[in-house]
Amino acid sequence: MRRQHRWPAWLSAAGLLFAALGCSAEMTDLSERYVKLVLAVGVHDADYVDAFYGPPEWRMAAAEQRRGIDDLDADAAALLEALADDVPPPGADEIERLRHRYLTTQVESLRARLRMLHGERLTFDEESAALYDAVAPVHTEEEFQAVLRQLDERLPGSGPLLDRYQAFRSRFEIPKDRLSAVFAAAIDGCRARTLEHVALPPTESFTIEYVTNKNWSGYNWYQGDYRSLIQINTDLPIYIDRAIDLACHEGYPGHHVYNVLLEQHLTRERGWQEFSVYALFSPQSLIAEGTANYGIEVAFPDAERRHFERDVLFPAAGLDASRADEYYDVLELVEKLSYAGNEAARRYRDGKIDAAATAKWLETYALYSPNRAAQRVRFIDQYGAYVINYNLGKDLVARYIERHAGTDSARRWSEFAKLLSSPRLPSGLED
Ligand SMILES: [Zn+2]
Repeated sequence: MRRQHRWPAWLSAAGLLFAALGCSAEMTDLSERYVKLVLAVGVHDADYVDAFYGPPEWRMAAAEQRRGIDDLDADAAALLEALADDVPPPGADEIERLRHRYLTTQVESLRARLRMLHGERLTFDEESAALYDAVAPVHTEEEFQAVLRQLDERLPGSGPLLDRYQAFRSRFEIPKDRLSAVFAAAIDGCRARTLEHVALPPTESFTIEYVTNKNWSGYNWYQGDYRSLIQINTDLPIYIDRAIDLACHEGYPGHHVYNVLLEQHLTRERGWQEFSVYALFSPQSLIAEGTANYGIEVAFPDAERRHFERDVLFPAAGLDASRADEYYDVLELVEKLSYAGNEAARRYRDGKIDAAATAKWLETYALYSPNRAAQRVRFIDQYGAYVINYNLGKDLVARYIERHAGTDSARRWSEFAKLLSSPRLPSGLED
């Protein structure tokens, strides 16, 4: 049932303003309550608030009040009840309905995070369903072994396959002194392709920092005002494929563009405050990581990526461009092992294997180097079922975009930009 607004819109200047912005006073109040709840959860969980560019005093108030978890859960439950009383009518615009569903699903996810902070242990699949609104499919060792056999044939020689793969890969490492030139070229290429299809505010920009000692390989910290800080971790060797990966994933048309479009179209144009905060352990992350990964294929369809690698990035890195095809043939096979990472994380989080066995699983079935496997285990320790957002997210986004746009490049771009500017969540990708 839909609760009547407390005053008729035509009696109130605020109501008129909200009506002009296309939002109800009730929803404005509920969205503000959501933002404050996310900030309050962030006091208990240092990773929870990934970005916030609303009023700084809200964050300070959350830190000062340091409200207890039970108290926050009661607030979240009350917020869900209020949302249930304010469902948009069936004839409402799609974006209004998506917004309502978005807020509801985000608050349900926030309650699950509170339960985890309270000490409740969820299985891997329970955690991914509760936090990310999606569950990763199960894959067997046999499926990965079939891919490993193909790689075994492609990388002949003696010794274990992992060693042969690492030796092959080492010939495609970007020398440290060329990293920033290669990334600059990759970013130029990703940005130019994005700007051909997506209108961005002229002031958007980001800065890059090189960091060490992190459990991730790259991170976009959105600052608001159309700016991002992108950090690249140089703990481990960086291979040539990471250049486009980082430039597209963290930058264009990935995280930076997603955050910029949400700020421009939802936070500023519509006044929807809930998008000024980004809760990391929430369904929004599946959309963020899924679009960031699928964005590489949108920006570089078919053979375009290989051409760009061969003509621009390999030369910038001082690598033998005649080997680009061979490298990407092998990587395409390795990509098919990506779900092995979810299987390792599922077994580890469910207590079936320990940290050492998890690292070993990643080496055996995902061909991670020992150092990268150790880094990944630390990532799982810190972020849990978050790992599904990358590969399952990419596959769900790919299916959604291709169902709506086919494989035509221009239509794909327009559907992709629409998704980046909308409050659609994982379960909504089935629509
Ligand atoms: Zn990401």
